[in-house]
Amino acid sequence: MKAATAYIQLNNLVHNLGIVRTKTANSRVWATIKANGYGHGLLTVANTLAFHADGFGVARLEEALAIRADSIETPILLLEGFYAAKDLSLLVKHQLQTAVHCIEQLEALEQAILVRPLRVWLKIDSGMHRIGVRPENVNMFIKRLNACPNVAKPLHFMSHFSCADELENSVTQKQMIVFFDAIAGQKGYRSLAASSGCFFWPKSHLDWVRPGICLYGISSVSSITSKILGLKPVMTMTSSLIAIKKIKKRESVGYGGRWIAENDTSIGVVAIGYGDGYPYVAPDGTPVIINGRRVPLVGRISMDMLTIDLGSYSQDCVGDEVILWGENLPVEEVAAHIGTIGYELVTSITSRVNLVYT
Ligand SMILES: *Cc1c(COP(=O)(O)O)cnc(C)c1O
Repeated sequence: MKAATAYIQLNNLVHNLGIVRTKTANSRVWATIKANGYGHGLLTVANTLAFHADGFGVARLEEALAIRADSIETPILLLEGFYAAKDLSLLVKHQLQTAVHCIEQLEALEQAILVRPLRVWLKIDSGMHRIGVRPENVNMFIKRLNACPNVAKPLHFMSHFSCADELENSVTQKQMIVFFDAIAGQKGYRSLAASSGCFFWPKSHLDWVRPGICLYGISSVSSITSKILGLKPVMTMTSSLIAIKKIKKRESVGYGGRWIAENDTSIGVVAIGYGDGYPYVAPDGTPVIINGRRVPLVGRISMDMLTIDLGSYSQDCVGDEVILWGENLPVEEVAAHIGTIGYELVTSITSRVNLVYT
């Protein structure tokens, strides 16, 4: 009997990148594979996409170094740049491009002694107010970066949308205007779009796009399913039934007795819990699939198990496979039940989960 197993369909990863390519035909693609390839396995994802993407976007130096240690030479962009001046020589050594979003990074670059200049993307805060240089400071950064011998010319430019998943929200348009104004007349590449930008904001495509979640077959927009976008889920999270328990009307199930049966029924115990990354906060009624039908999760999630209501006429057997999300049960839909997003579910799976590539 298998425990929590995530099947990763690598051809769907390539398919989804193809969909992004058709949407963003004039742009190059930084395939975003941070956070262990959104939980799908960093190196397998990187190897699968190495000759399909134009480059990889990652968040941490360690992610970039792991990719290079696997002999993958695809360009890599550190989306938040380096975190410490002492890392700059590693960026040079491994040909990592870097965002620069703050004065500390600028000063570190100015003070470093490097054997070769780095490709730098000036990250502009066009309205998200997370990281990035404020528009009024962009000229100063451009001047100093252009004067810095450690920076390859031309300088490149990026920004990030705060509300691109809200298709009616005018903030995105405003962010584009701020970005274009801030870099008017500059030569380098420009990059704005993550997944939502790729699909819904064609004016944001520019020279490079940075899709992440859509590559894994997951919609970034709650009102539009991945299927409508032509995306195919890459991960199917499964486990199996390790027990079936008959219970009587008014009996409760699990810690705290949270769920109480309204009728005599059969409870299925599934070998997956929050120790595998299935959220503790999942409420009663969150759907799972067993033997082709949807049944509700009932009772609190345990570390290693969760319980589902199989119904009183259940024919299910110990050992049967249970699908927590994936084909026919989009992770976005499960996430909506739980009050989170598909991004969090796929990136939260723990090292105990067996990743099986198909
Ligand atoms: C994570 C990230 C992306 C990818 O975002 P998705 O919504 O997953 O497509 C793009 N750009 C930056 C700067 C990011 O941090």
